Amino acid sequence: MTHPAQPKASHFINGEYVEDTAGTPIPVIYAATGEQIATVHAATPAIVEQALSTAKAAQKEWAKMTGTERGRVLRRAADIMRARNHDLSVLETYDTGKPLQETLVADATSGADALEYFGGLAASLTGEHIPLGEDWVYTKREPLGMCVGIGAWNYPTQIACWKGAPALACGNSMVFKPSETTPLCALKVAEILIEAGAPAGVFNVVQGMGEVGGALVTDPRVDKVSLTGSVPTGKKVYAAAAAGMKHVTMELGGKSPLIIFDDADVDNAVGGAINGNFYSSGQVCSNGTRVFVQKGIKEKFLARLAERTGNAIIGDPMDEATSFGPMVTENQMNIVLGYIEKGKAEGARLICGGNRADKDGYFIEPTVFADVTDDMTIAREEIFGPVMSVLDFDSEEEVVARANDTEFGLSAGVFTKDFTRAHRVIGNLEAGSCFINSYNDAPVEAPFGGVKASGVGRENSKEAIKHFSQVKSVYVRMGDVEAAF
Ligand code: NDP
Repeated sequence: MTHPAQPKASHFINGEYVEDTAGTPIPVIYAATGEQIATVHAATPAIVEQALSTAKAAQKEWAKMTGTERGRVLRRAADIMRARNHDLSVLETYDTGKPLQETLVADATSGADALEYFGGLAASLTGEHIPLGEDWVYTKREPLGMCVGIGAWNYPTQIACWKGAPALACGNSMVFKPSETTPLCALKVAEILIEAGAPAGVFNVVQGMGEVGGALVTDPRVDKVSLTGSVPTGKKVYAAAAAGMKHVTMELGGKSPLIIFDDADVDNAVGGAINGNFYSSGQVCSNGTRVFVQKGIKEKFLARLAERTGNAIIGDPMDEATSFGPMVTENQMNIVLGYIEKGKAEGARLICGGNRADKDGYFIEPTVFADVTDDMTIAREEIFGPVMSVLDFDSEEEVVARANDTEFGLSAGVFTKDFTRAHRVIGNLEAGSCFINSYNDAPVEAPFGGVKASGVGRENSKEAIKHFSQVKSVYVRMGDVEAAF
C-alpha cells in the first residue's frame, strides 16, 4: 500500500503536479525508523525548463494585480495552512523526523505566519514623492521578476514560506527547490497557494540535488536567488549568481555564542541553552552551540543542565509526549557522531549523552561537553546536531573577543540581570540575530539573518521586502528642456 506521505507526483508546476520518471529517483526515508516512505524524481532538464518558462510567464500578470489582491491570496493560504495544521505537521515529521510536539507549533504555523504577515504588507508597498521645485521625482517599488528559492532540510515548510511569501507579496514569481532530503512539504505549500487563488505558475516546486539547484541559479532568466544552506554551498551559489548579476539572499550556517554571566538566573540560562542546542535535535542554523559560562556559575549551571537534559523524552516522533527526535538522515547522524568522537579525543569533558541512542532510526543522545577550549574542533565547526560545547570565561572583554573569533556571525545571546551589560555585550558581538535573556525566538516580525560568512540579506520583517523588490525613480519635468546645443 502507498504510504500517506507519498506525493501525487514529484514536482508542482503551473498549478499542477507534474512527473517525469526519467529523473534520478530520490528515496524519502523516515528518520525515526529508517524505512522508505516515498520516492520522488529529480527534475530533468525538461522539467527545469518547464518550471522556469512557466514562472517567467506567470510573473507579469501576478505583478499587475494590486497588492491588496495578492495579499488576499497569501492570507487565504495562511488560513488554509492553519486549518490543516495537524496533517501538515504529520507530513513535516515524516519529512524531517522532528517530533510532532515541535512540528505542531513551529512549522506550518510559522509558514502561515509568514503568509499572513507578507499578505498584510503587500498592499502597503508604495513609493515616495520627492518635490524638486516645479518638478518632482516619484519612486515605485517594483518586483525583481522571477526568483529561485533553494532550501535546507531542517524546516522544509517554513523555508518555502519564508522565501515564497515575501517574494509573492512583492509581485515576483518563484521556482523553489527543496533539499533532496526533505522533498515533501514544499509541494503542499504550492498546492495550498493554488487553492487560495494564486494564479498557476506563480509558485512552483522542482525536486533535485545540487545539480538542479545549479541549473536554476545559472539560468539567465532568473533575477534573484535566495538560499538557505551551508557556507560552502552559499559561496558556490553566490558566485554563480554574481556571474549573472542576480540579487541574492544567503541564509547560511553558524557557530553562535551564548554567553552566560554569573548573575544570570540559572534555570532561564539552562532553558536558553537547551532551546539553543537541542530543539530539532540541534539541526538549527542559529543555535548557540558555544555556551560561554562565567566561572562563578559554571558548576551550578552544568549540574542543572545535566539534570534537565536527562528529562528529554527520546522516542517515536509521532507521539506528542516525545520531546527529542532523530537526526534527519543516517549520513547526518554519522557526521555528528564523528564530531562527538573528536570532542572526546581532543579532551573535552563529557557531561551527558555522547552516544547513538539504542533505537531504530537515527537517534543521538543530547550531548553536553564541558571544559571545551576555543581551539577544539567542536568549538570551531558547525556540527548541526545535538552537541553543546560549554566553555569557561572570566571577564566580559575576554568573552566578547573569543565569541567574535569565528568566520560565522549568524546569532548571539546573552544571559545576565545587568541590563546595561546585556546591551553593551550584544552591541559588541558580530552577529545578525541576537537575544537577551532568551534564545532562538524567530517571529516573522523580526529580521533574521547573519553577518560575516553566515550570510547576506535578511528574511522576515519589512527587511525581506527590500530583498525581494527594487526601487524605480522617475524624474518628471514640468517646463521646457534646456540643452547645451
Ligand atoms: P546544503 O548547503 O548542503 O544544501 C542547501 C541546499 O542547496 C540544498 O537544497 C542543496 O541541494 C542545494 N545545493 C547544493 N549544492 C548546490 C549548488 N551548487 N547550487 C545550487 N544549489 C545547491 O545545506 P543542508 O541542506 O545540509 O542544510 C544545512 C545547512 O543549512 C547548515 O549549514 C545550516 O546552518 C544551514 N541553515 C541555515 C539557515 C539560516 O537561515 N541561516 C537555516 C537552516 C539551515 P541538495 O541538498 O538536494 O543537494
